[in-house]
Amino acid sequence: MANIVLSISTNIQKEVMAYYGPHFIERKAPGVIFAAKLPDTAITMYKSGKLMFQGGGAEREAARWGTIEKAATPPSSIGAKGDVLPNNFATMSVLGSDETGTGDYFGPITVAAVYVPTSKIELINELGVKDSKMLTDDYMRKIAPDLRAACVHSVLVLRNEKYNNLQAKGYSQGKMKAMMHNKALQNTLSKMAPEKPEFILIDQFAERGVYYNYLKSERELVQENVYFSTKAEQLHVAVATASILARAAFLKEMDRLSDIAGLTLMKGASNKVDVQAARIWRNQGEEFLRSITKWHFANTDKARKMK
Ligand code: MN
Repeated sequence: MANIVLSISTNIQKEVMAYYGPHFIERKAPGVIFAAKLPDTAITMYKSGKLMFQGGGAEREAARWGTIEKAATPPSSIGAKGDVLPNNFATMSVLGSDETGTGDYFGPITVAAVYVPTSKIELINELGVKDSKMLTDDYMRKIAPDLRAACVHSVLVLRNEKYNNLQAKGYSQGKMKAMMHNKALQNTLSKMAPEKPEFILIDQFAERGVYYNYLKSERELVQENVYFSTKAEQLHVAVATASILARAAFLKEMDRLSDIAGLTLMKGASNKVDVQAARIWRNQGEEFLRSITKWHFANTDKARKMK
């Protein structure tokens, strides 16, 4: 949700109260001296001189009263590490990317890049996007089609056979991820053209220098206006949406693999995964198991001993 805070003088405070008077609502929160509610914006005025706008119309309403000062969710407040983002980043037009599947023995790595312009932030929130870590797999599967229809995006799936080939050639998982993010961002940028995002935000899995070092032999690099931050899904809905689309693609591929394996494959890389892998090894053989797993994981050796 868009969230904007202005600092205003006592004179402006009076004007604000007069202006929103018809929409006044009672709010007995500490320090609140006035509150109002428009159909798309909540307005809260504090004794301190802060004036807060929340909701889809926040930008429009805040612009009546002053220069936008700061976002209500600075990265530091959620413990995110990475670049310092511009003020009001959450309300900007951002292309975000995220990946999933990296810690799962069975199934692919998937990466999604999604463009959410300012004008679509409210819609995306209404479609049910929140921090994907609070969302269940079933919920994400359910909202993903609407999100795909609403946003310019690119989703890439690195299936196990390709993953294992790259791994055998010496590619680290970090390098594979960096190549996938770079490609998904490129794809989305070309679909969007000539429109450009104000910023790109990558959910950080490697520091900027390490990320671009992974990409040193790539011909085309996405580098302009790129920020990196951990917990980026909490800093812009574009990354939260990317996280959901990546997850939905991972689940879809897991369904396909479960079908051909004849059982519901487990996520993660726990001891239970070893047991399941040993069973598949016994019944369907090594080559089949290899074709549905990240073969270099320690689970392979454990399953080998159990089979
Ligand atoms: Mn991530």
